[in-house]
Amino acid sequence: MAVPAHRIPALVVALLIVLAPWMLPVWIVTLLGYVGLYSIVCLGLVLLTGMVGITSFGQAAFVGLGAYVSALSIIHLGLSPWLTLPLSLAASGLAGALIGWLTIRLSGHYLVLGTMAWGLGLFYLFGNLQGLGGFNGLSGVPRLEAAGLSLVEPARFMLLVWALLAILLAGTTTLIDSRAGRAIRALRDPVMVESFGVQSASLKLKVFVAAALFAGLAGWLHAHYLGHVSPSPFGINASVDYLFMAVIGGTGSPAGAVLGPAVVESLRTLLRDAVPALQGVGGNYEAIVFGALVILLLQRASGGLAPYLSRWLPQRPPPRAPAAAQPLPTRKPPSAGSALLEVRGLGKRFGGLVALQGVDFNVPAGEIVALIGPNGAGKSTLFNLVTGVLPPSEGEVRLQGQRIDTLPPRAIAARGVARTFQHVRLRANMTCLENVAIGTWLRGRAGVMAGALALSREEDTQCLFEAQRQLDRVGLGALASAPAGSLALGQQRVLEIARALAADPSLLMLDEPAAGLRLREKQALATLLRELKSQGVTVLVVEHDMDFVMNLVDRMVVLQFGTKIAEGTPDVVRRDPRVIEAYLGGLDD
Ligand code: ADP
Ligand code: MG
Repeated sequence: MAVPAHRIPALVVALLIVLAPWMLPVWIVTLLGYVGLYSIVCLGLVLLTGMVGITSFGQAAFVGLGAYVSALSIIHLGLSPWLTLPLSLAASGLAGALIGWLTIRLSGHYLVLGTMAWGLGLFYLFGNLQGLGGFNGLSGVPRLEAAGLSLVEPARFMLLVWALLAILLAGTTTLIDSRAGRAIRALRDPVMVESFGVQSASLKLKVFVAAALFAGLAGWLHAHYLGHVSPSPFGINASVDYLFMAVIGGTGSPAGAVLGPAVVESLRTLLRDAVPALQGVGGNYEAIVFGALVILLLQRASGGLAPYLSRWLPQRPPPRAPAAAQPLPTRKPPSAGSALLEVRGLGKRFGGLVALQGVDFNVPAGEIVALIGPNGAGKSTLFNLVTGVLPPSEGEVRLQGQRIDTLPPRAIAARGVARTFQHVRLRANMTCLENVAIGTWLRGRAGVMAGALALSREEDTQCLFEAQRQLDRVGLGALASAPAGSLALGQQRVLEIARALAADPSLLMLDEPAAGLRLREKQALATLLRELKSQGVTVLVVEHDMDFVMNLVDRMVVLQFGTKIAEGTPDVVRRDPRVIEAYLGGLDD
């Protein structure tokens, strides 16, 4: 059986690890054990910090929780070390769910401070809670055994740790390429993912819990390896250390979670021996040299070492769509000509400012309707009201007769409204195919566990197949494997249209799709929209470029100062004196 080239580096590492006890001195094997242990925690950070963008300064507290719970349940319940594993995981998972629930609501500096707060809080709890042995900790935690063999012997412990690490690495890698993984990698833009139906808060929470579970597992291993549990390895210093290692390795990929601890621990060991010898005195010089080296490293390789190193290794091929797949479920199209979207007396006030007032119009199924008006007329506000980003102050919005103005964006998306953004919101590092696949979210079901356990393969291929189909439909099929960030602005806007189409919408809403495009690109976009219309897609396009919409749309609604001043076919609107005065006249000035 042929092994794909990109798997070879991992297989070589695995082989070296298995052979290490026979080839390397005990102190290196011991070091490898610790590297594996730290890698498990760092892998959680790759998910949490690298993928989702939550910088955690408290991860060591979850390690401590896993360690203390195991030690305590042995002391008080007399369980064997193996039986305490589920308890350790339950404790770190539950604490992760609770702390995560509180933390992910915060943002920016508060989020970082929040992680520090619980990192410190749990540390002092470990030190001060009755029955935990204070800052001296608990001794005599029984060591791990299996089939009468002590697993604390360095080589066996190292192999156990790396076997667990290998399982977690495989799961994480599989997850990243799954439906849920793509959504997780897009969570840094919650407005975008929510507009495709993703429950961003609950998905973030799941990642938070996963990272806490990884840390809890490491804590359990720690307790039974050292036979002793005390607060100091679980304090804020340790948390910073984990973060350090993950960042140095590179939080963008699972490989970074292993590379970071390996490099940091090797450097530390080397410096600990070499620097005092150079200086001729003992002391903490190695910490300073170490700090300087880290700064140098991060300057040369800002994404960490993994991407830097991977340039010389065979690349993992980007995900591809299969040649054929079962089609995803489709929505029943609205009957042509019926009022798909109805806007009635819609208004929005921002404090004292009336941004929109008493706006009425319909979008009939199968038509292209433009909403136009000069800057500040209220177009974006109306767009936000219809898509649920903002609640209206008055009036109502109906989709196929049902009110949607009280619903959040993801519920509106579920009813068949898909949108693009005035300022493109794409994941620059993900491929075009992956970006468009995010649009299919509501047409699939597999979650995080299914993704990690490779149970969602079939659905994943369906999503990718559909994504490719939509890329072909808009003429970007050949760019499927290119990172979205490498496309020109005009192509990025079209890519957003493909992503919206992947949701199988009954109403496609475009916010200034022609903004920033060159004439050629505008013409191509108009051709695409005409094609979509001929295929039965209903479009509401918000635009301030009159020329772009004039020859394209069936009907126009003109806004000025938040109120509708005209409505009708382009020919009628073009001759309306109020429009000429307010809009065209304004432009000529
Ligand atoms: P357009 O998209 O037609 O250029 P907008 O809908 O962005 O216009 O804005 C309409 C009016 O509402 C403007 O006067 C704008 O300053 C105001 N506005 C828009 N959003 C907000 C907000 N979040 N807070 C306060 N005022 C706003
Ligand atoms: Mg606007």
